Amino acid sequence: MTHTLLVTGGAGFIGSAVVREVLLASAWRVVNVDKLTYSGNPASLADVADNPRYHFIHADIADPAAMRAAFEVFKPAAVMHLAAESHVDRSIDNPAAFLETNVRGTFVLLEEARRYWKGLKTAEPQKARDFRFHHISTDEVFGDLAETQTAFSESTPYAPSSPYSASKAASDHLVRAWQRTYGLPTLVTNCSNNYGPRQFPEKLIPLTILNALAGRDLPIYGDGRQVRDWLFVEDHVRALLLVLAHGREGETYAVGGHCEKQNVEVVRAVCEILEELAPQKPAGLGRYADLIRFVRDRPGHDGRYAIDAAKIRKELGWRPREDFASGLRKTVRWYLENKAWWQPILDGTYRCQRLGVAV
Ligand code: NAD
Repeated sequence: MTHTLLVTGGAGFIGSAVVREVLLASAWRVVNVDKLTYSGNPASLADVADNPRYHFIHADIADPAAMRAAFEVFKPAAVMHLAAESHVDRSIDNPAAFLETNVRGTFVLLEEARRYWKGLKTAEPQKARDFRFHHISTDEVFGDLAETQTAFSESTPYAPSSPYSASKAASDHLVRAWQRTYGLPTLVTNCSNNYGPRQFPEKLIPLTILNALAGRDLPIYGDGRQVRDWLFVEDHVRALLLVLAHGREGETYAVGGHCEKQNVEVVRAVCEILEELAPQKPAGLGRYADLIRFVRDRPGHDGRYAIDAAKIRKELGWRPREDFASGLRKTVRWYLENKAWWQPILDGTYRCQRLGVAV
């Protein structure tokens, strides 16, 4: 019988890449539970929407009745939990939404998964043994890393700095507790900064691409020397699927690209690629990099994140395929070729569609 994977947040940036890859590379059925917040975009799944193995449930993970029905109707063999509020700046402006989805939503999902899994233990013990709850998290839970410190690993103590990372840390702790206390078969992955196609244009790389194309300022926080460890989204997805298939129950895996870059370097690299791929600039603009503006730093801004991915490399043989130059080029090219995906977000049509307003 075909297995079912329940994905939460499958209309988001990473979730849509997971859904696409599972449908392409396996015979599994995929059930996507998504509330379609501002960052959940059905257009990101347009190419799979008609696939008979794809099902969409428009629901909030914090709604116990909806989650119970999802488990009862679709009887998943595994859960990949990606649904979250994900943007640090928004978490500073409105932390409540982050606690609601990332903490309470994860709690509700864990409870409904536990209820379903308990039922399996008596009815279908082999299925219960094979069941996995895979929680997708971030390296931001580990906080700030000094320039001289060694990279984060699975044993790094938690020290979140922002409401976003604190809410993700809380959700990681809940998952660990549900494994330790109830024996729920869990997996946790903590990944570094992702980039690639279909990322909402509030994040650094798509924001830079789209602002540059429009001749708008390219804002960089503080002195721009904050370091992030960048990973192409498809490499993250391959890591997630390997962990789900072969990761050891109850374990955590740190995932990262061994690709530390200062924010200012990233913005300059995007500008360089645009010089080549989009030489027709807005009138009066010399070079794209002339648009760079340093703006007041974000409060609580972490200086450096970096991941030591030795465990997943040794245990599961995972390695990123894309290096930063090739991944960034693919990303810029995707935004250049997919204006129909991002134009409605920029011109307000997307928001109107969400609100049911005819445009
Ligand atoms: P995203 O903001 O692009 O997507 C989040 C998705 O979750 C959206 O489709 C949204 O509609 C959905 N969602 C939000 N609240 C919901 C709720 N209450 N119920 C159901 N669905 C809801 O985020 P992303 O960048 O794709 O990140 C996905 C996951 O990966 C998050 O858990 C994030 O913490 C984690 N992560 C992200 C990165 C990164 O660099 N983007 C790195 C490491 C880990």
